[in-house]
Amino acid sequence: MNPQKTDCIFCKIIAGEIPSQMAYRDKEVVVFADIKKDVPVHLLVVPIKHIPSLATMSDADMPLVGKMVAAAKKVAAEKGLADKGYRLTMNIGADGGQDVQHIHIHLLGGRPLKWEN
Ligand code: AMP
Ligand code: ZN
Repeated sequence: MNPQKTDCIFCKIIAGEIPSQMAYRDKEVVVFADIKKDVPVHLLVVPIKHIPSLATMSDADMPLVGKMVAAAKKVAAEKGLADKGYRLTMNIGADGGQDVQHIHIHLLGGRPLKWEN
């Protein structure tokens, strides 16, 4: 089902070839811990399908983004963040600061966050 890209770090995590702290998994989306320990909760919401960027994603794949947000909402609630709040961020392309070319949403929370850019 997943046309795994052999040089993609997130495809390797999804395939279990690189260890991760997996918080959620369904048929289309996984959520695992970011290696960065910058905020108390930093998770990555990632589709199982290898899609390099929102900028080049097809309209046919667009419903996946809703599924990613739904998974983020579910895991955020499980982590006790629903009342205090949290942040979802998607970095797109070079100016957006996207380092891994497999689309993902950062789920950040556990303390008040500043807006920096
Ligand atoms: P971005 O800059 O939006 O592409 O985010 C990529 C994220 O992937 C960064 O926050 C990295 O810390 C994270 N990352 C890179 N390698 C790993 C890994 N092996 N396990 C978990 N997170 C990773
Ligand atoms: Zn990938």
